[in-house]
Amino acid sequence: MQEFIHKLKQAKRVAVLTGAGISQESGIPTFRGEGGLWKQYRAEELATPEAFRRDPQLVWEWYEWRKKICSEAKPNIAHLKLADWEKKFPEFHLFTQNVDGLHRRAGSQQVTSLHGDIFSARCTKCKYFLSDRDRFWDSLPPHCPSCGSLLRPHIVWFGESYFEGDLDFAFSFLKETDFLFVVGTSGSVGVPVQLAAFAKANGATTVEINPMPSGYQSMMDIQFSEKAGEFFSRIDI
Ligand code: NAD
Ligand code: ZN
Repeated sequence: MQEFIHKLKQAKRVAVLTGAGISQESGIPTFRGEGGLWKQYRAEELATPEAFRRDPQLVWEWYEWRKKICSEAKPNIAHLKLADWEKKFPEFHLFTQNVDGLHRRAGSQQVTSLHGDIFSARCTKCKYFLSDRDRFWDSLPPHCPSCGSLLRPHIVWFGESYFEGDLDFAFSFLKETDFLFVVGTSGSVGVPVQLAAFAKANGATTVEINPMPSGYQSMMDIQFSEKAGEFFSRIDI
C-alpha cells in the first residue's frame, strides 16, 4: 500500500470511473444488488427507449421513485474524498455512470456524468430542458410546457448513444492518464469497460475497488476487494 501511495502521489493525471457501487453506502440501491428491483421489473426492462414508448407513465413512476431516494441520500466518504482528490493532482477527472448527482453534491467539479442526470428532464420534440432537484411531477407522464409533447428523463438509456462530446473527451483524457481508478461498477455496460481497456492499453496503472468480482478484473493492475467507503477511509494522499 505504501509503495502504491508513493507512486500515486507523483501522478500528473488521474482519472476515476465510478458506478452504482460508490453510492451503495449512501443508501442508493445498485441495479444488480439487493433492492435493485422495483415492483417486479429489472432495470433493463425500464431504462430503454422501447419501454418508454410502450408505457411512459410506468417508466416515469420508476424514475420518480428513484429520484426521491437520490434526493434524500447524502454523499459518503468515498464521494467526499474524491472531491478532495481533484485538488491534489495537476489533472484530474471523474467519469461517473451514476445519475444521482452525489459527486457534485460532494464538491467535485471535474465530473462527466456519462449516463445523464436523474434530476433533469428534456422534451422528446423540442429543445426544452429542465434541471431541478426539488421538482416532483404531480401528474405522470409530464408534458413540455413549451410545445406540449412528452418530457423524458435526461438519461442515457440502454441502447442509446452517449451525449455528444463526452466520449471524445473521455478517450482523449484517458489516453495519457497515469492512473485510472474503477470504483463500484460491475462491467455489465459496454462503453465504460472500453474506456478502462483503452486507458490500460495506453499505459495507465489501473486500480479497482469493488467487494465483488467484476467484468473489469482482467484489465486491472491492482485490486482492492472492499467497499468504496472502507478504501477511501483508509487512504490518505
Ligand atoms: P451495477 O449495479 O451493475 O453494479 C454495482 C457494482 O458495485 C457491483 O460490481 C458491486 O459489486 C459493486 N458494489 C456494491 N456495493 C459496493 C460498495 N459499497 N463499494 C464498492 N462497490 C460496490 O452498477 P453499474 O456498474 O454502475 O451499472 C449499472 C447502470 O446503472 C449504470 O449505468 C448506472 O448509471 C445505473 N445506476 C445508477 C445508480 C446511481 O446513480 N446511484 C444506481 C443504480 C444504477
Ligand atoms: Zn417541447
